[in-house]
Amino acid sequence: GEPRSSRQMTENSPLQIFVKAKKKINDIFVEIEDYVKDTVEYMHEIEKHKEIVTSEKVKQSEDFVSKVRGIRDVLSRDHMKVAFFGRTSNGKSSVINAMLRDKVLPSGIGHTTNCFLQVEGSPTDEPYLILEGSDEHCAVDSVSQLAHALCKEKLNENQLVRVFWPRNRCLLLRDDVVFVDSPGVDVTPNLDEWIDKYCLDADVFVLVANAESTLMVTEKNFFHKVSTRLSKPNIFILNNRWDASANEPEYLDQVRRQHQERAADFLVKELKVISQREADERIFFISAKEALQARLAEQGHSISTPLTEGFQTRYFEFQDFERKFEECISKSAVKTKFDQHSQRGKLIANQLKEILDSIYSDAQQLKSEKLVHHKELLDKINYTEKQLMLITQEMKHKIRNMVEDVEQRVSKAL
Ligand code: GDP
Repeated sequence: GEPRSSRQMTENSPLQIFVKAKKKINDIFVEIEDYVKDTVEYMHEIEKHKEIVTSEKVKQSEDFVSKVRGIRDVLSRDHMKVAFFGRTSNGKSSVINAMLRDKVLPSGIGHTTNCFLQVEGSPTDEPYLILEGSDEHCAVDSVSQLAHALCKEKLNENQLVRVFWPRNRCLLLRDDVVFVDSPGVDVTPNLDEWIDKYCLDADVFVLVANAESTLMVTEKNFFHKVSTRLSKPNIFILNNRWDASANEPEYLDQVRRQHQERAADFLVKELKVISQREADERIFFISAKEALQARLAEQGHSISTPLTEGFQTRYFEFQDFERKFEECISKSAVKTKFDQHSQRGKLIANQLKEILDSIYSDAQQLKSEKLVHHKELLDKINYTEKQLMLITQEMKHKIRNMVEDVEQRVSKAL
């Protein structure tokens, strides 16, 4: 049994747009698959009459079965992907953990993420990880074990470690959201390779910035590169560590305005990915550390740290970010992922219809040819019949004449 509140939350979640669309499009492909299979079966049946279906057409139709299967395979793996970037220690892992409502990724001093970490839902009850280039499932019971596993392996910044986390422990994972945590953009990265390997299929990018400083050139550079490869990427900017502002309440509004303006200028004027009006929906002031603690406390963990002034406002803003993020990622993923599938589905249905149409018109032609042929035959028969009739009449006539002639001669002779 699932608690009612979490059920309701799932059903209202904007992520459901993606989840429902995925289910619907899969149902449509199940129908297309049935339709293609029926067609192939029917073709094998009429293939026996060689004149109607060519083996080429049968082969073409059979190929559609594997094409549809292929699309369904890709479809089942389709997910919504969010990638986190920012300088080391800005709080990328903390944001991910807060969103997952659990300490999934190691964070803090000594736990710098020095490779790419992808967190995705797993149907199993126990978490495990898979290193790039291996099939081996390494069990991880705890964060410290995960951190240890990551340290032990000599991983480089271009490698990917996939963390499979039980779906039933987190709604976002259950709804097919995949999280990617990156090494800090300050650790001499090979940005081009990063982007090609991990970013081209990302639906949303989250820049985790530090509210205690301004946006860095390294952070901006990365997104400049991303937007040359992807047209209008969806970017959120989180000004994290906003709890630090509580120390200087007299500057709070001023600092916030300044960060807001600079971040908006970056997205609107530099990258030109959104309009000024949309900027409020993309820039947030949060504290990932507090949000995670609040969520752990909600789940009954005892948290010792006292609440900082303004916590509630920051926590609301974090939840607001999550909502906007969910809407954005869900719509983007439906558009980029399913648009292709529906185009291909339409193409297959159309091509199959063309084949069937051509078979139908071939059959029609054959039928009318046979009819013509049939008519010629009938005419011949009719003609022969008439001829026969004429001949018999003539014969009868001749015979009658002959009989008369003989009778006359006989009577004369008598
Ligand atoms: P990453 O390297 O970007 O993944 O950063 P981490 O998530 O590992 O965070 C680095 C350190 O900053 C950790 O000790 C976190 O607890 C701390 N931290 C993260 N977010 C916040 C925040 O919002 N406020 C404060 N005060 N500390 C934070």
